[in-house]
Amino acid sequence: MSKHKLIPNTFALKCIADSSITWPQQQNEFDKNQPYIVVGEGSNILLLDESFHGQLIQVSNNQFVVSETPDTYIVELGGGLNWHKTVVQLLEQGINGAENLALIPGTVGAAPVQNIGAYGVEIAQFVHAIEAYDVQLNKIVKFNNDDCQFAYRDSIFKHQTYQGKSRFIIETVWLKFSKGAQVVTEYGPLKQFADDYQRQHNCCPTASSIFDEVCRIRQSKLPNPHKLANAGSFFKNPIVEQNTALQLQQQVEECLDMPIYPYADNLVKLAAGFLIDKAGLKGYAVNDAQVHQLQALVLTNKGSARGADIALLAKKVCDKVNHIYAIELQPEVRFISSAGEVDAVSYLNTLLDKS
Ligand SMILES: Cc1cc2nc3c(=O)[nH]c(=O)nc-3n(C[C@H](O)[C@H](O)[C@H](O)COP(=O)(O)OP(=O)(O)OC[C@H]3O[C@@H](n4cnc5c(N)ncnc54)[C@H](O)[C@@H]3O)c2cc1C
Repeated sequence: MSKHKLIPNTFALKCIADSSITWPQQQNEFDKNQPYIVVGEGSNILLLDESFHGQLIQVSNNQFVVSETPDTYIVELGGGLNWHKTVVQLLEQGINGAENLALIPGTVGAAPVQNIGAYGVEIAQFVHAIEAYDVQLNKIVKFNNDDCQFAYRDSIFKHQTYQGKSRFIIETVWLKFSKGAQVVTEYGPLKQFADDYQRQHNCCPTASSIFDEVCRIRQSKLPNPHKLANAGSFFKNPIVEQNTALQLQQQVEECLDMPIYPYADNLVKLAAGFLIDKAGLKGYAVNDAQVHQLQALVLTNKGSARGADIALLAKKVCDKVNHIYAIELQPEVRFISSAGEVDAVSYLNTLLDKS
């Protein structure tokens, strides 16, 4: 165990943990009855305070082992691997499927927690099994895909807690890829790319051409956290009843061209970034915390923002969108205080009560 470690995070916030544990090497020093947080690369967390009074757990498993059946590849991945490098390595070995998820920051261990997704693909489609340390039972447990209860930016790993802390520490993820799987190009900009590719080459795009295109699109539209600190999409896209969405489209002038995506049964998914943009919030700032000028879904730290500034900005964005469109936005980013993780929605509501 080492003392006083800076918690990695792409918001570039300074927050020091009392102690840190490299998992599983230093597992015997872990005290489950004291506060702890599990952090990968910190690309989906907001650190609210300048210190965390507890143990910072970082998973270090980094194995990459491929086995195959006549129809599939099964790849065993250590939870500490970098996700994007893993996608690159998969493609280099001729294993296709994850190319749409290129350039998503973070670790393999964190990827199933919020079921990372982009450009029409989610990691849930490939998860074969997950092995995690169960803090409650003090042993390694194995999950199959159904056990993980994957949904949009959601899984069982977000909900099962031990004394209010994450119950599971993901050590190993097995992904399963079909040999000869088709590339996924239904998502808007990729569709255009696939049509152009087909015209030029007389065939479907290859997985590596999709990888290149996804990287190109992401680099052109998303701020690079190394240059402008951010945690990607700050809010989830809201899931609402279809009638609510249609009413907005019909009754609110600026929502006439609002995108609506089918979700399930009578439910649809709206684009949170569209609503934030139409609410006139691009560029809106609280001190150095600012809604990105081009990508309304991204909150940024221009330099000296504190976690509290970013949280206050998030609250103001939620309030304004709710006031104008009666749609409740919920943070996708996880909130961590000096005592441990706090529920982001409740935290923002507390700010509301105080204002
Ligand atoms: C520029 C940018 C773009 C992004 N684009 C996307 C995108 O397109 N799609 C998308 O889905 N996400 C996106 N994200 C969000 C983020 O990349 C993902 O959520 C990623 O999986 C987080 O990985 P991490 O290692 O940084 O996790 P962290 O931020 O460190 O942790 C996130 C959560 O996972 C938990 N966790 C981490 N590791 C483990 C583990 N081993 N076991 C158990 N729990 C763990 C943490 O406790 C925390 O609650 C983006 C972020 C940025 C900064």
